[in-house]
Amino acid sequence: MQEYADAVRRHVCSVCIDGEFSPDGEFVRCGLPSGRSCPVESYLPEVVEIVERIESPWMEDYVSELRRTVCSHCAQTPEGVCELRIKAECSLDTYFMLVAEAVEEVRDRRRSANFIHSH
Ligand code: SF4
Ligand code: SF4
Repeated sequence: MQEYADAVRRHVCSVCIDGEFSPDGEFVRCGLPSGRSCPVESYLPEVVEIVERIESPWMEDYVSELRRTVCSHCAQTPEGVCELRIKAECSLDTYFMLVAEAVEEVRDRRRSANFIHSH
């Protein structure tokens, strides 16, 4: 997971509204108050699994799988409503496309490494 976490840091934390940045704009650390965990981090294994399993040109296919497998066990009501999502306070929802890009970057890197090793 470390490789994925590093890619998330580059793709997501670097633009996250909850990040803390140095004066020259470098990401320093997550600025969430203690006691609040980031769903991008908490659900990273699940998100990796979704992005690697689903092959679709439509983002909605990934999002509906996220709702089904992650949100249903998180803050979402049985009716499919999430207050944090409505208030745009869920980083996983806000930056889902960037999280998916980070996962795909690692997957593509691994695939080309496997290709090189097998030829
Ligand atoms: S809230 Fe999540 S995505 Fe944002 S900086 Fe913190 S760890 Fe990164
Ligand atoms: S959108 Fe809501 S239910 Fe889904 S991961 Fe974010 S906080 Fe959890």
